[in-house]
Amino acid sequence: MNTTVRFAPSPTGHIHIGNARTALFNWLFALKADGRFILRFDDTDVERSRREFAQQIERDLEWLGIHPHAVVRQSDRVPVYEAAAERLKAAGLVYPCYETSEELERRRRIRLSRRLPPVYGREALKLGGEEKAALEAEGRRPHWRFLLPNFRDNPFETERTEVHWDDIVRGPQTVDLASMSDPVLIREDGTFLYTLPSVADDIEMGVTHIIRGDDHVTNTGAQIALFNALGAKAPSFGHHNLLTSVTGEGLSKRTGALSISSLREAGIEPMAVASLAVLIGTSGPVVACRNMEELAAHFSPSSSSKSAAKFDPAELRGLSRNLIQETPFEAVEDRLAAMGIVGEKAERFWLAVRGNLETVGEAVDWWRIVTEGIQHPVDLSEEDRDFVRQAMNHLPPEPWDDQTWTAWTSVLKERTGRKGKALFKPLRVALTGLESGPELANLLPLLGREETLARRP
Ligand code: GLU
Repeated sequence: MNTTVRFAPSPTGHIHIGNARTALFNWLFALKADGRFILRFDDTDVERSRREFAQQIERDLEWLGIHPHAVVRQSDRVPVYEAAAERLKAAGLVYPCYETSEELERRRRIRLSRRLPPVYGREALKLGGEEKAALEAEGRRPHWRFLLPNFRDNPFETERTEVHWDDIVRGPQTVDLASMSDPVLIREDGTFLYTLPSVADDIEMGVTHIIRGDDHVTNTGAQIALFNALGAKAPSFGHHNLLTSVTGEGLSKRTGALSISSLREAGIEPMAVASLAVLIGTSGPVVACRNMEELAAHFSPSSSSKSAAKFDPAELRGLSRNLIQETPFEAVEDRLAAMGIVGEKAERFWLAVRGNLETVGEAVDWWRIVTEGIQHPVDLSEEDRDFVRQAMNHLPPEPWDDQTWTAWTSVLKERTGRKGKALFKPLRVALTGLESGPELANLLPLLGREETLARRP
């Protein structure tokens, strides 16, 4: 069967680097297997889901280099879940429950005080038809639980029932279905919680591998049981470790902490984000990969460590800088053009400045310096000013190339006896308005003789 994966974010906020990790694990997994990647919005919680967040998530993935083969919204697919729920009801595999959350909490405390595991005791399963009718007459609406297959004949006598899977990331896993409560699949208002839509869609969409954060490990046992209850074989599972902030807190979609949008706005390169999101917390080194194919070659799901990995935004900036320094012109041509950096000088300009940039956006500052003139008043001593003025009289004739700077400064060295900083700094300040920046050997031919002369202080 063709490999099919899905990324299933709930559109309740901006995705952060930890969500990007899940998306990228799936994307790279599909890329390596020549498979399909479905973006599936887990938006059945209508109160918290927002269309704007879904749109932003699509844009963020696109920016990262993830191009889904299909985009679906679970809110458009409710009839599929209703049909699945009907099948489960008909087979007696879900049952109506009427407890309020206070009642459940009270029972949970009693169980804990009796040193019993705080799982749901299936009390609602004992209700007879008349009792249910009476509760409904009171105005109570049922929520529906999935009857976990953790008993032989009597659902009130559960027994250890192991579910095993060979996790793509964590290796062999076991959960005991008797250690958990029957999960609620349908709320009182008839809306679905995440579990049933997720499994129903995974079946219908032919998902072969479910790759997600390890906060879902315990859900997997019940989900495998639900796949089977719906007559399907469960797909393979992989649960990767989560990312935390440097101080160890979990990342949250709601706070917007380290959101992909904020990293993009800060000018971080998408492949820097992708490289770190994938390679952090694995046994391999974190390197800045130039494209998805390169990152795919470094990606191995089973090399993730089992504990959470701390994510340091400072590391991102370093990776981003490394990438920019090596980015060929063709790869940034469109972005530069959007900033007005166009024309015959654009390529040489990019090659001259890329080594000095923190972000591609900063190129525009250098473009102004090259094409419009210095942006700050020149701060030179009288003596240095005289030196630069004289130096202008010794500018070589055009054509200029990357040897012109050495030719010019060699003459100046001979004539004035200046060398090192005393020789170079006044020239740099006069020509760029700044004390540091890209190699002047590369900038000078971009300025040309006429413009250089025009910068005589
Ligand atoms: N919406 C769930 C989450 O973001 C999806 C989990 C899953 O992939 O099954 O955690």
